[in-house]
Amino acid sequence: MIVGDRVGGRSLRWGMVGGGRGSQIGYVHRSAATRDGIFALVAGALDVDGERGRAFGIALGMDPSRSYPDYKVMFTAEAGREDGIEVVSIATPNNTHFVICKAALEHDLHVICEKPLCFTVAEAEELAGLAKSRQRTVGVAYGYSGYQMIEEARALVAAGELGDIRVVNFQFSHGFHNTAVEQESPSTRWRVTPEFAGPSYVLGDLGTHPFYLSEVILPHLRIKRLLCTRQSFVGSRAPLEDNATVLMEYESGAVATAWISAVNAGAMHSQKIRVVGSRGSLEWWDEHPNQLSLEIQGQPPRLLDRGMPYLHGTALEEDRIGAGHPEGLFDAWANLYRRFALAITGSSQTLTFPGIEAGLEGVRWVENCVRSADQGGVWVDYR
Ligand code: NAD
Repeated sequence: MIVGDRVGGRSLRWGMVGGGRGSQIGYVHRSAATRDGIFALVAGALDVDGERGRAFGIALGMDPSRSYPDYKVMFTAEAGREDGIEVVSIATPNNTHFVICKAALEHDLHVICEKPLCFTVAEAEELAGLAKSRQRTVGVAYGYSGYQMIEEARALVAAGELGDIRVVNFQFSHGFHNTAVEQESPSTRWRVTPEFAGPSYVLGDLGTHPFYLSEVILPHLRIKRLLCTRQSFVGSRAPLEDNATVLMEYESGAVATAWISAVNAGAMHSQKIRVVGSRGSLEWWDEHPNQLSLEIQGQPPRLLDRGMPYLHGTALEEDRIGAGHPEGLFDAWANLYRRFALAITGSSQTLTFPGIEAGLEGVRWVENCVRSADQGGVWVDYR
């Protein structure tokens, strides 16, 4: 159970790049990191507009001399201080992740980076090599993996409750971008512009989330090959897709399908994962994250609830308020930031966290999907 004690008995000195006023995800990072005093936000370069970023940092309570106009200035200045930042989060558009992450590692900082980690496997491998040589932790902000029922799903599969895994189906298919909303929304505009978004829109922006959940729940499955098709139903988004379908075959003989979309008109998030084994199935949906559906063939279906003593120990480890009270996105992210802190401080932990390998695998998945789709939807070998 999490009761608010700090990892290692102190707050990590933390900085942020991006996540400025009005950004979509900046506040989630700050809420999660500071929830239990594990991270203290002492410096930032929060905005592409240096002055606006400085003003926002000061409004957040930063020492004015440590609210910087630019991340490069911040890394240099903080490296020269005895109380300089130890870890930095990167919450900027995708095209900047690689260069900022690299610069942070070169300044011997631990990094928590937004997804997708970067644009190419080659870039991700370079970051992985750098993190290894500098002995620094890189965490990737796959926030949904902090939900406790994902741990229960993982534990059920590991215990063999579903039998042999046969079929996996995951989706993140919302309807919020069924028209060209980017004309009015800067935060959507960069997502559909290759220069900022990279080689894909929904595959990288949305698909990497449930893909990582599949890796957490099914760590023993390795993709052998995949086939992807992608479409730009809002034509002005081409060549970037706002809808994609992926077929995957695992080395074990299991198969998977994925539907990733921003044009699922009428739907909210619709992020779900269903795992089917020879004995039974489980299903989780991020709009009802406190429940996990467990169906064993021939038995009445069960809806498992967060916080209940019948869950596996790992699914109870991050409980904060007991059963019955709903927990949500902020709690999941706070769990994840806590796991990052445990990794950074070298403390022992039983739960997995999305590190540099998870970032790399997300990039590999997107790269393969794009490679398949751009050849007309053909099977491509995964590695
Ligand atoms: P946004 O456009 O709403 O905000 C981006 C912020 O970054 C802005 O404050 C902008 O001023 C700042 N910025 C841009 N370039 C900068 C630079 N060079 N230096 C400093 N600040 C800079 O974008 P967003 O929706 O918040 O997305 C940011 C990142 O977070 C993206 O990579 C996105 O994929 C990711 N994201 C992740 C999740 C998640 O669930 N993990 C959710 C939303 C967004």
